Amino acid sequence: MNPRLLIALYLFVILLPLGLSALGTRPPRALSDELASGAGMLAYAILLAEFLLSGRFRAISGRIGIDITMRFHQLLARTAIVLALVHPLAYTNPSMGIDLSAIGAGAAAWGLLFMLFLAALSRDRPGTAHETWRLFHGLGAALIAALLLYHTLYAGRYAQDPVLAAVWIGLFAVALASLLFVYLLKPLHKMRHPWTAESIRKIATRTWEVTLTPQRHDGMRYKAGQFAWISIGRSAISLNENPFSIASAPASGNKLQFVIKELGDFTRTLGRIQPGTRAYVDGPHGNMMIDNHGVATGIAMVAGGVGIAPILGILRQLHLENDPRPTTLLYGNRREDQIVYRDELDNLARDHGTRVVHALYEPPEGWDGHHGMCDAALIRQEFDQPEMRHWLYVLCGPPVMMDIAEETLIEMGVPAGNIISERFKYD
Ligand SMILES: Cc1cc2nc3c(=O)[nH]c(=O)nc-3n(C[C@H](O)[C@H](O)[C@H](O)COP(=O)(O)OP(=O)(O)OC[C@H]3O[C@@H](n4cnc5c(N)ncnc54)[C@H](O)[C@@H]3O)c2cc1C
Repeated sequence: MNPRLLIALYLFVILLPLGLSALGTRPPRALSDELASGAGMLAYAILLAEFLLSGRFRAISGRIGIDITMRFHQLLARTAIVLALVHPLAYTNPSMGIDLSAIGAGAAAWGLLFMLFLAALSRDRPGTAHETWRLFHGLGAALIAALLLYHTLYAGRYAQDPVLAAVWIGLFAVALASLLFVYLLKPLHKMRHPWTAESIRKIATRTWEVTLTPQRHDGMRYKAGQFAWISIGRSAISLNENPFSIASAPASGNKLQFVIKELGDFTRTLGRIQPGTRAYVDGPHGNMMIDNHGVATGIAMVAGGVGIAPILGILRQLHLENDPRPTTLLYGNRREDQIVYRDELDNLARDHGTRVVHALYEPPEGWDGHHGMCDAALIRQEFDQPEMRHWLYVLCGPPVMMDIAEETLIEMGVPAGNIISERFKYD
């Protein structure tokens, strides 16, 4: 679906309850009371829509990208919190009747919403397991949605209209169905399409190459640059699954290859996983694909550290397809022992003509590549030429590097639409 249509659909859904209320024939109240009701309705509609903005739906994140989907998710969650604050405080004359259980449900949802918000803000604190937070976030959100449905139907003035009541029940059902889709239907699909961890190989300091082979099925259709959620040695219904970019090229066959850096609970166990262990894959996801930019006259890639993973997939695919467009790779690392697939990159330079520029922050003695980071000066040095303004730029790496690269490219006159990127931060 076209991103503009997605936005229009989103606005329609969240504004529908307000619109229906405005069309009603109830006598008007004081402005602040109407404001309180409106804020409550909008907050609830936004919350229900958040279930679809969880990043797990290809129809959404495959169109606008996982980064934008998650930014929307966070921004809208904050908007809903503000509206939820306004809702009870703005009433001058609550006409909610005397249904104390419905008011209690609203108050409980209110408290839980703030707890969920605070937990989301502190989810990256050391000692917080990502999976525990994810479980709390999902179950908490479902409970809030259910409490608010009760509150809306029994305490809401406008929800006494049967049409609006049916709309609320429908929106709630869609939100609940989205959870069932992610936590029940997807795992069932994964169970029927298992993979095997064929090899797990250390390829650089704290960095592993993981190759998965499909077990009795044809594998997964994907585009170079996309990513998948994978779990190895765990049940298909486990919450322990992590997103990783696919570093293999679709044209290379049905095996999937990943380049994974040790970071926490799961990634630090990679070295202990035995070849032959069962794995599950949910994907493909993401839209960092160059296919949508066929008119670009060349392709420049800026990778920092393990951000090389999706870029490798793209480079490999371009080579296998004999794509005639010029390519440049700017690949930054701290130290030389962090560079992955150096021989393959040299071969790509020789066989595909890719210009590979290595940058090291702590170079060894005698290093003949660039000294320092992939900073603005290096970006300008490598790409500030008139013909390169029409190239496509693919960025993946540490957030600071990506921000600098994006800013510099835009200053150089590269249209924002010619820059695609992905951050390795999901939430
Ligand atoms: C789209 C995308 C593509 C990525 N591609 C790569 C890649 O190719 N190579 C690579 O090394 N890393 C990649 N990452 C990062 C990778 O997902 C995390 O490093 C990994 O999940 C950490 O897991 P852990 O259990 O070892 O660490 P933990 O200590 O559990 O988590 C560290 C951090 O990783 C993130 N994280 C952990 N689990 C999840 C999860 N289930 N879902 C979302 N985020 C999670 C959270 O921000 C968390 O704070 C990618 C991330 C995203 C969002």
